[in-house]
Amino acid sequence: MSQHPCTDPQHHVHDAQGFVAAVERACRERGLRLTPIRARVLDLVARHGKPIKAYDLLDQIRLDKQRVDDEDGAGAAAPPTVYRALEFLLVNGFIHKLESVNAFVACHHPSTAQHSVPFLICDHCHSAVELEDERIVALLDEKARALGFVPQAQTLEVHGICARCAQAG
Ligand SMILES: [Zn+2]
Ligand SMILES: [Zn+2]
Repeated sequence: MSQHPCTDPQHHVHDAQGFVAAVERACRERGLRLTPIRARVLDLVARHGKPIKAYDLLDQIRLDKQRVDDEDGAGAAAPPTVYRALEFLLVNGFIHKLESVNAFVACHHPSTAQHSVPFLICDHCHSAVELEDERIVALLDEKARALGFVPQAQTLEVHGICARCAQAG
């Protein structure tokens, strides 16, 4: 199997526009609706490049409201609307939530449905990289079930120092 692009940190988020376009395509294929606010939230998450917290997203969207005068309704989005947009993006596998830092990050294979992946989170630059290897998730699941445990949500987040920061330091 070739290396999945998600394991390459360089692959991540240098093209937010292309990413949003890919999600739009995936939505069409899967019969989902990427409303303006959903697209805006997705764009902000992708553009940020690093895990972003919900309140930072809300701040950004509040700035939108002051700038654009509510053309497509996205500008005036109230917090619950933003949280619903995040929920939609999460459930459909377009973004991931990192529980340990309470932040969201774009998923760079938006054609796949929701999936569990381990993350490597750098405590220095706060970048997060998906560790795309189904064996890890499958093994975890298998071990849990062997103990009679039924896993429902898998959050595996490994904290440390990324290669770039380790080099710099
Ligand atoms: Zn992913
Ligand atoms: Zn780092």
